[in-house]
Amino acid sequence: MRVAIIGAGFAGIGAAIALRDSGERDFVILERAESVGGTWRDNRYPGVACDVPSHLYSYSFLPNPDWSSVFASGPEIHEYLESAVHTQGLEEHLRLNTAMTGLDWDDEWAVWRVDTSQGGYTADAVILAAGRLTEPRIPEVPGIESFRGELFHSARWRGDVELAGRRVAVVGTGASAIQLVPRLADAGAHVTVFQRSAPWIVPRPDRAYSDAERASFAADPEAMAALRSAQFWEGEAMFAARAGDPAAVADARAEALEHLHAQVADPALRAALTPDYEIGCKRRLISSDYYPALASGAVALEASALASVDRGVLVAASGARVEADVVVFATGFESSEQPYAALIRGVGGTTLAEHWKRGMTAFASTSIHGFPNLFVVNGPNAGLGHNSAVYMIETQLQYILGALSHLDAFGGVLDVSARAERAYTRMIDRMAAPTVWLTGGCDSWYLDPRSGRLTLLWPGSAHEFRERNGTFDPRPYEPKETHVAPHPLRVQGVR
Ligand code: NAP
Repeated sequence: MRVAIIGAGFAGIGAAIALRDSGERDFVILERAESVGGTWRDNRYPGVACDVPSHLYSYSFLPNPDWSSVFASGPEIHEYLESAVHTQGLEEHLRLNTAMTGLDWDDEWAVWRVDTSQGGYTADAVILAAGRLTEPRIPEVPGIESFRGELFHSARWRGDVELAGRRVAVVGTGASAIQLVPRLADAGAHVTVFQRSAPWIVPRPDRAYSDAERASFAADPEAMAALRSAQFWEGEAMFAARAGDPAAVADARAEALEHLHAQVADPALRAALTPDYEIGCKRRLISSDYYPALASGAVALEASALASVDRGVLVAASGARVEADVVVFATGFESSEQPYAALIRGVGGTTLAEHWKRGMTAFASTSIHGFPNLFVVNGPNAGLGHNSAVYMIETQLQYILGALSHLDAFGGVLDVSARAERAYTRMIDRMAAPTVWLTGGCDSWYLDPRSGRLTLLWPGSAHEFRERNGTFDPRPYEPKETHVAPHPLRVQGVR
């Protein structure tokens, strides 16, 4: 085939639509699970939702006038993605229950040999859209094997486990935990939260869209586009606080502290909930019901890490002992070392994991030296802490379609030079140095623990990412002779 897309989440489905719209018909989407949706298929915990407004957290080329509220729930976003596959007629390209088990670059034939759980393919180009937060991370907790109750990760929710009236311990206070915790209390569980670090939280300005608003979005797509644009620029305005601008940081901190004071009257609880690092260093969370759940006593706070389990009892770093029937690990994901990297072998058989042994890098956050005609979406330095991931995905897709058009026109293969990748990486490091992610005094999943480098986030604004990386330019790529005739890719344009 011409193009193999790995993964059917936001990035993979978006890539398929973009390819199809550009005139390409010869592609497949390989998806290891039995259905599409990526993050929004896997995260089914009570309260799962997006903290980016729904009109912005959707494809620009597939606006949805029917979003039910400013911030859509996880199931609603999942439905949007499933419906995109259906309305765009992508089923014929979709291979479900098909896990990519190996990707090998064949230099002689200038193709990728794609091994899957359902057999092999060859592809001229590969779009790696395998996600960045897919593998749940459960910390090593001594004695955990002695716990006799139910134990699972927030991204592997067990809907069959009874919660009402039971003692539920939630480990972690990230974006997943703060959505989940109030819902567990609502369900009648006796919840204790293990908080290793207090998160910064600001209000969640959510509300339902009325029928009249939805009808007007459907009748007036320009008004819907204008709302999306306004939400995008509101998001961009928040970058100043991440970039380290002292006034913007002070304003962001004041907003969050005001929210804490407004919702938590008890000074001791407030002190325990006050972060000891700068706002924005870890993801700034939005919630209007997390603090009230703690302040009302519905949820107990253990302001230290889960350190060990002693004969079935959870022991906090503070020494406190907590008995529980259920433990939910809302402890995040493997982010800096992506499991797919060990499966991909480029020129000379080098694995992507070897190439990334000191941390993920890619030119334009998309192309990797020694891995020709392979494009990674949501990989190195392509995430954001302040705006919509979908905008970043669409930018990367513009770049990739440009690259595929180039291959179509000129043949050969596209292998970015090592020099270009190094220069881009140095630029990232320079841009990252003053940001709150490196100066804010916290440890986050945005940083690679092996080097301390910022490898997950783009250290600029989203529109800068598009200006810099949205248009393909062949100059950083090495001319490479192939033994085979050029494959016309039939990609006709960039949307
Ligand atoms: P996360 O942000 O990585 O949070 C993991 C949490 O587990 C942290 O609070 C961490 O504490 C804690 N932890 C780890 N080991 C612990 C221990 N032994 N005891 C106590 N706490 C422990 O994971 P997440 O909440 O699943 O979110 C991951 C990312 O997914 C987010 O940053 C966001 O990008 C995305 N997300 C987005 C939304 C949305 O609405 N858009 C919703 C959910 C998730 P430390 O802080 O001390 O490390």
